[in-house]
Parts: sequence; structure tokens; C-alpha cells
Amino acid sequence: ADEARIALDNLTDRGAGLFHPTLRLGVAGLSRAGKTVFITSLVHNLLHGGRLPMLEAQNSGRISRTYLEEQPDDAVPRFQYEEHIRAVLEDRVWPQSTRAISELRLTIEYESASGWSRLFSPGRLSLDIVDYPGEWLLDLPLLDKDFATFSRESLERARLPARASMAAAYLAVADAVPLDDPADEATSLRLSQAFADYLRACRQDKTALSTLPPGRFLMPGDLEGSPALTFAPLPVEPGRVYPKGSFAAVHARRYEAYKTVVVKPFFRDHFARLDRQILLVDALQAINAGPDAVADLEMALSDILECFRPGRASWLGSLLTRRIDRILVGATKADHLHRESHPKLEAIVRRLVDKAIERARFSGAATEIVAMAAIRATREGTVPDGGRTLPVIVGTPMVGETIGGERFDGETETAVFPGDLPADVSRLLRGGPALDPVTFVRFRPPRVERTEDGIKLSLPHVRLDRALQFLIGDRLT
Ligand code: GDP
Repeated sequence: ADEARIALDNLTDRGAGLFHPTLRLGVAGLSRAGKTVFITSLVHNLLHGGRLPMLEAQNSGRISRTYLEEQPDDAVPRFQYEEHIRAVLEDRVWPQSTRAISELRLTIEYESASGWSRLFSPGRLSLDIVDYPGEWLLDLPLLDKDFATFSRESLERARLPARASMAAAYLAVADAVPLDDPADEATSLRLSQAFADYLRACRQDKTALSTLPPGRFLMPGDLEGSPALTFAPLPVEPGRVYPKGSFAAVHARRYEAYKTVVVKPFFRDHFARLDRQILLVDALQAINAGPDAVADLEMALSDILECFRPGRASWLGSLLTRRIDRILVGATKADHLHRESHPKLEAIVRRLVDKAIERARFSGAATEIVAMAAIRATREGTVPDGGRTLPVIVGTPMVGETIGGERFDGETETAVFPGDLPADVSRLLRGGPALDPVTFVRFRPPRVERTEDGIKLSLPHVRLDRALQFLIGDRLT
């Protein structure tokens, strides 16, 4: 039934595409990686003729008109572009982050680069941007795992030194549950909440650990509180049959329901229909949190990228008739570093996703890595330091940020020496006392002045244009 459904969806998509070419672009990344900011800036820069020199169609003046249109999928929430851009431009605050899936259609009219095609009609491309939490992708491996396996792996992980203290409350409840006794809802709820609390604690800024299925426990979307989410891994014995209605049996059944009603529909209805994908990665946050977080990010990224090259024999592999042919990995928030460090940031992210990308390339998807900032909140400068000049970044730290003991009020600009990244990536994984943390200050979005005619200038960015050229450039020729 899944195969039939996806075949029909593809046929409908393609049929519509004959008259009206479309490109479905997936925007994914773990929470706070920068998905909302990326889409907001992309749309604003395209709608308002932003400075995008590397986007060839824009640079050569061939884009004649860009506008938002009604999206094709009625059941998916619309990406709240207007609200987000108002927050950035009017209030200079960052928009509300991604909580669930959303979609936006941006249509671009362009003149074809070749004179022959120009004779016909102007080209038109509808870009369907699909924003979804990267956490949801971590659920794919669950499809091949039964409850006992999922439980064993989750419990092993929860007992790792880096996690044990955060998992203590959950482990205490899980270990005390009488697995054969009839399940009661209050205990089940307490279990699943303790488990979700532990998963969330791992995601705090200081620890920044990331490999944590089930994805909806972190990003429930509209499923908050539903039975499919009211379970937790339990210390069950593999192969043993537990009494009907017991804790072990009820939680195993809900875990299966989670896979059927939550995980499969997402992959079937949304993921399998994507043409291109950008995966946003906030490596700086992990680097700052230390080697555990970096190792963890590496694991999460290879799990995520695994989704793009599922084996033909797997459930998803059989659905992916329309293969994603380009994947861009965006190392976000590069505006926190001086330009001199950008190649190192790219090298670090390349190293983190290396093996996974190797495999994706093998399966036919072109992949690229770019250090970028969808909205550049800083500008670069230098300050004299003895006989030398030091590269610095200048921006307005968010209210409450402190640098060297000074607390900022959200209105004052300051120059920050961001520090440098190690050239040797393996040091980030090994750690060690000699590793200086990068100074990581959260800045407010930049001030974008109004021009005389009242139209806003375009949002500054770092290499958004390079990202766009890779993702859509070839479809605008
Ligand atoms: P999401 O959870 O992936 O949707 O993440 P957001 O797009 O909401 O970004 C999370 C936070 O990261 C924002 O609130 C900003 O503080 C920061 N951020 C994201 N993108 C950028 C960027 O390009 N530059 C800077 N300076 N900060 C960014």
C-alpha cells in the first residue's frame, strides 16, 4: 500500500510538473541548526533581489519575477515566512525555530539562458521548500528494530558516562517497573516523560549531545501527549513473551504503533518526495561543548545521511523511486568566525560527514559542503594588537550575553576576537587541555536600513548564493 501510494504521489507530482516544473527542496538539520533562519533569508533574498552574485541566473539578470504562491499540499502547515521576516527586520530578533514540518512555495520566472528556449515562453520554476526537524530522520533506523532491540540500545546509551547523570531519573523508573504486571497509564506517562526529559537534557547548550531517537520525543509536532508517544524503552528480555496488558507488552505495542502511524507516514508522504536536500549543521556549538558532543554529532550526521541512501531492499529504499540527486551540507553560523577560519570549518564538517557522504556519492547524489551564514549578523574588522593586527568580528551581542565579564544590553556593538579552529580535526574528537574554545557570542540579527523608497535592502549573508547555485542554479537555465 505504501508503494502504491508513493507511486501515485509521484505521478501526480510529475503530471503537475509537466506543465509547471517544480523542485521539492528539503531543509533539515537538528534543532537550532538554523533551518528557519535559512528559509527566511533565502525567500527574502530571492523576493527582493538580494545580493547573490554566485547565483548565476540572478547575477546575469535573467530572473524576471519571484513570488509566493499557494503551496500544493493542503494538509501541511505553511512556513510562517511573513511572521519570521518581520521578527528579523522590524524587531531584530531571531524567528521562532522549527517545531514541526511546514512548507512554502516560491515561484521564480526567468529568461532562459539559451536563445532558442527564449523563443518559447519564459521559464518558470516552483520551488517547494519543505522544512522539517532533522530529529525525525533519526527514526528511520527504528523501522528495522523491534522493541527489545530498541530498548537494549537505548539503555546501553543511557548508561554511558556522558549521559548517565542526565538519565538517572529515567533509569530509576525504568528499572523499578514490574514488567509483567498490568500496565497503568500514570506509570506509563511518568516513564515516557522521564525518558523525554532525559533526551531533552542531552540537547542543552552545555552538553549538546544529539543522537537520540525517537525523534518525536524531542519534536512531537502535533502528536504531543498521544498514546503513540507514551512509551519508553524498558529492560525487557529479548524473545520472551510478556502477558497481554503488561507494562512490557503495552510499551512494545505502542512502540510498534509509533513506527506505523508516525515514522512511516513521514517518510512516505514527505521525505520520499524530495528532489534536493540541504542539511544544516551547527558544528560550532558542538565544538564548544567538547569532544563528546563532536563525536555525538558525527554519529547523528551519519545516521541522518544514511536516510539518503537506503538499500533497495529496505522499506524506504523501495519507496525512493525519485532519488534525491543533490545534497548540500551547510555548516551554519559561519558569521561567528572570521573569514580566515571558514576553510577550517568546512574541513571539520567534511571530516564529520566524510564516510556518510562517500556512500551518498556512491548512490548517485552530488554532495557539497559549504561554510555559510544565512543571515550575517557580524561584519569583519581588525584591531591593532602590539605590532600585529588581529582579525575580529563586529556585531551587537544579544541582551544578557557576557564577554570577559562585561554584560551586554542588546543595543551595544562590540568587536570580538572569535578565536580560531584547530587545523587538526582529530584534536576536536580527542579533546585535550590545549584546545582553546572558540569565543561564541550570540549576536542580534543585523540592522538592515530602509532605502529611500521604503523598500528594505537585502539581508546580508555568507555564501547563501553559493548554496542556492548548487541547489537550484541548474534548474534556472
Ligand atoms: P532551527 O531550529 O533549525 O529552525 O533553527 P533557527 O533557524 O531557529 O536558528 C536557531 C538559532 O541559531 C537562531 O535563533 C539564531 O540565534 C542562530 N542562527 C541561525 N542561523 C544563523 C545565522 O545565519 N547567523 C547567526 N549569527 N545566527 C544564526
